[in-house]
Amino acid sequence: MFLVDSHCHLDYDPMAFDIPGTIRRAHDQNIKGFLTVCTDLAKIPAVTAIADSYEDVFATIGVHPHATQNTLADQELYSLLVKEASHPKVIGFGETGLDYYYTHSPHERQKSSFKAHIKAALTCDLPLIIHTRDAEEDTIDLIKTVGKGKARGVMHCFSGSSWLRDQALDLGFYISASGILTFKKADGLREIFQGVPLERLLVETDAPFLSPEPYRGKPNEPAFLVETVKKLAELKKVSFDDLCSKTTQNFLTLFSKARMSCV
Ligand SMILES: [Zn+2]
Repeated sequence: MFLVDSHCHLDYDPMAFDIPGTIRRAHDQNIKGFLTVCTDLAKIPAVTAIADSYEDVFATIGVHPHATQNTLADQELYSLLVKEASHPKVIGFGETGLDYYYTHSPHERQKSSFKAHIKAALTCDLPLIIHTRDAEEDTIDLIKTVGKGKARGVMHCFSGSSWLRDQALDLGFYISASGILTFKKADGLREIFQGVPLERLLVETDAPFLSPEPYRGKPNEPAFLVETVKKLAELKKVSFDDLCSKTTQNFLTLFSKARMSCV
């Protein structure tokens, strides 16, 4: 069974200079599905064009919490997201959420953008890719109040608390493991992942960010996903192959619009 990189940014440098090579190196590692995640409305044409060019690349559309300062107001944003989601390779909304660690955009702007994404997700019945940092309570509160128990999605690049893990699991969300899991000082996070059931796990690179060991410090790329999967397999006491098939099945369950023609 092949792996899917459930979160990467193929439109970012340096991958953008050589997307065919990036994908070829990932294929060599049996990674045969990619979700390239949008971070700003201006990037929608680029991410959808990449998805259109490769059979096994899918895209999301959305506004990263950092970029919400200058984005559209709620209603316009909602309408645009719904309209763009009709693209056949667009399989989710994000990345959206809240980031109070950096606060590159005011909290209120982040919240209104997040709400627009949740509403669009309900209208289109598509999953959300959620980025949350130092904003756990507000994130869960908005998923509950705006999502009304129907929103589904993934906590991407999970590095939160056991409280956030449990809340997300209760809401039916998936938890995605990134290269952080391989870092020497990540014992606390590895402990938290012990409590995530196999049927709710996804794996991702978040490339070009957060390269796993032994590539830490270099630009990340989807081919490096295997390092995170090896670490996670060790942690969960399952074989590498079982974890590949489980996480790929999970990806296809959550992102049901994806038609994996790449087997
Ligand atoms: Zn990302």
